[in-house]
Amino acid sequence: LTKPDGSIGETIYGQMTKFAAEVGAVNLGQGAPGTEPPEELITTTTEAMRDGFNQYAPGQGFPRLLEAVAAQRRRDFDQHVAPNEVLYTAGATEGLTAAILALLPRGGSLVAFEPFYDSYPAAIAAAGGTLHTVPILPDGHGGFGPDWEEFDRVIAAVEPAIILVNTPHNPTGFIFSADDLAQIGRAAESVDAWVLSDEVYEQLTLTDQGHVPPAVAIEDSARVVTVSSAGKSWNVTGWKIGWVIASSEVRQAIQTVKQFLSFTAGGPMQIGMADMLSGDSQFVAENRASLRSRAEVLVPACRTVPDAEVSTPLAGYFTVVDYSALTDLDAFELNDLLAREYSLVGIPVPALCRLGSPAYETYRASIRYSFCKSEADVDKGAQLFTALG
Ligand code: PMP
Ligand code: GLN
Repeated sequence: LTKPDGSIGETIYGQMTKFAAEVGAVNLGQGAPGTEPPEELITTTTEAMRDGFNQYAPGQGFPRLLEAVAAQRRRDFDQHVAPNEVLYTAGATEGLTAAILALLPRGGSLVAFEPFYDSYPAAIAAAGGTLHTVPILPDGHGGFGPDWEEFDRVIAAVEPAIILVNTPHNPTGFIFSADDLAQIGRAAESVDAWVLSDEVYEQLTLTDQGHVPPAVAIEDSARVVTVSSAGKSWNVTGWKIGWVIASSEVRQAIQTVKQFLSFTAGGPMQIGMADMLSGDSQFVAENRASLRSRAEVLVPACRTVPDAEVSTPLAGYFTVVDYSALTDLDAFELNDLLAREYSLVGIPVPALCRLGSPAYETYRASIRYSFCKSEADVDKGAQLFTALG
C-alpha cells in the first residue's frame, strides 16, 4: 500500500488477512481460494518429487511445462504458441516484474488501467519508469468500462513504452472484448508500445462472455507479451507456477532478467502442472462452476444492503460494493468499522489506486469482497451481509 508520503508498506492483502484474524472477522479480502486443488495434481506432483525432479530446473522451465502451456493456449483460446516462446516464472508476479524490467526503459512510461494489481507500481518503480493510468469506471448498471477518451488522450500525451492490460480485470471483473483489445493494439502500434497482458483470471468467467487473449485479438501479435499462471485456475496460489509468452527474442530478453530474480523455482510443481495442463482433467470447468455458485450466494446477499451499489462481475474472484450513498466514511474507515461491528473484512478499492487519482475518488467508498473462499466462509459472509441489510 503506497502511503501518503509515497513510501510502500506491506501489501493491502497481507494487512487485511492479519486484520481479519485479529478481530475474528470473516476474511473476504485476499483473493486466496478456500477450496482445494484436484487430488490428481497432488499425485502427479508427488510422483515428480519421487522421480527426482528436485534440483534446479532449466532457466526457461522444464520443456514438458513449456509444451503443455503452448498446447493449453491453443486448445482454450486458439492462440498459436511455440514452446520456445514460453518462459516459466514464479507466478504471474515474477513474469510481470521481469517483463517490466526487461521492456521498460529507465525514464519510460507505462500506461495501466486503474484500479490495478499492486505489484505493478512496485515493478515500474524498480525499472525507473513512470506509471500513468486510465480509469475503469462503473457504468451505473453493475458493470464497468474503461474511460476510452482518457485512454486516447494519455497514450498520445505520454507515448508509453508499455500498455498493461489486465483481462479479466481485478477487482471489477470486467472482460475486455475483442474490439476493445483491437483498439488497444492500434494505440500500441501508433506509439510503438508493447502490450503486456495479465490474464491470471483467464479461466474464471462467470457468464457466457468468454476471455479473449490480447495476443489473439491484436493483429500485430508480436508486440504482445502474455502473462498468466496456474494459481487461480487450479487453486494453487501458493505454488507460484506462472508463465510468460512472447516471441522467442522477447522471451529470451525477459528470461535474462528473470534468471537473476529467482533463477528458477517449483521444479516438481512444474512437472505436476504440465501433466494436468496437457491431460483431460475436467477440474478447471468444475472449479469455474463452483465459483459461479459461490458468487450467486455472495453477490445477492451484498444487494440486501439498502442503497449499496453492488457490481455484477463477468469474471474473477470479486464483487465491488460502493457504499457512498450510505455513508461519508471512506473505504478504509468503513472496512475497519464493518470488521469490528459486523465481522466482515474486504479490500478497500482505493488501495488499488493512485492516491488522489480520479479512480481513487470514484472508488473512495468501495470495498472489494472475494467469493473464492470456502463455501462455509461465503455462506457466513452472506449471512452477515443479510444481517447488515
Ligand atoms: N495479477 C492479478 C490481476 C492478480 O489478481 C494476481 C493475484 N494473484 C496476480 C497478478 C499474481 O498472480 P500470481 O499469484 O500467479 O503471482
Ligand atoms: N491477487 C490476490 C488478490 O488480488 C492477492 C495476492 C497477494 O496477496 N499478493 O487478492
